[in-house]
Amino acid sequence: MRLFIFIFSVLCFFKCSGVTPKTQIDVLIVTDDRKFNREAFFAVFDSFQNIHSTEISHPEILDFLGTDSIRSFDAIVFYDMPAEVILTDTQKQNFLNFFEEGAPAIFLHHSLVSYQQWDQFPEIIGGRYYNNTPLINEQGDTLQSVYQHDVRYRVNIVDTEHPITLGMEDFEILDEVYNHYYVKDDVEVLLTTEHPLSGHELGWINTFGNSRIVFLINGHGETAYENPNFRRLLHNAIHWAASQKEQKFPYQVD
Ligand SMILES: [Zn+2]
Repeated sequence: MRLFIFIFSVLCFFKCSGVTPKTQIDVLIVTDDRKFNREAFFAVFDSFQNIHSTEISHPEILDFLGTDSIRSFDAIVFYDMPAEVILTDTQKQNFLNFFEEGAPAIFLHHSLVSYQQWDQFPEIIGGRYYNNTPLINEQGDTLQSVYQHDVRYRVNIVDTEHPITLGMEDFEILDEVYNHYYVKDDVEVLLTTEHPLSGHELGWINTFGNSRIVFLINGHGETAYENPNFRRLLHNAIHWAASQKEQKFPYQVD
């Protein structure tokens, strides 16, 4: 871990010096011990030109969020699902500080289940998949989220003008669906579906602090990883998130 931070401190020195414009986007990918086809997943990022990815896992990410080294990355992709992890007050504050200052972050798929015990987390990501049945309002309503594997369904592009969905058309995907999850009222919805087994909103942008955070619900396994439209959404989301730091780190990428 110490070597890891040292390496990134050195990288940051060169990257933060502002001497040369960046020619690639450095993405930090957060994983945990959840099983997935690693080769197929990372092949998605390898297929993106000018995007270089580095993996960090749990629990290292929780302390890394409190260091300056994380700020040398141009975008953070959360592909973790620490559902029952209880964060310390310091770890929560590190998260909040990072997003308050404008973190370029993309949350994927099962990250909607993360940090079930932390009430503020849905404010960051813009929603929540509830593992247990909670009361969601003072009227006594409850919400029990459910999932279903291997559903083929149609994804609707809500806004074809947004940089993340620019020029895209509705498409089909074979992927896990979630249903009966919570979505914050004021997110900017980019993707929806009408499939009866799925929740309506599939992708959105949430504002938290000075961050505009992207959530994309797709990405359970190979059938999503290999879907060209999923790849395009993820590629565009990384570019868009990274461009929020453009004034700090000018880009010369496609
Ligand atoms: Zn899944």
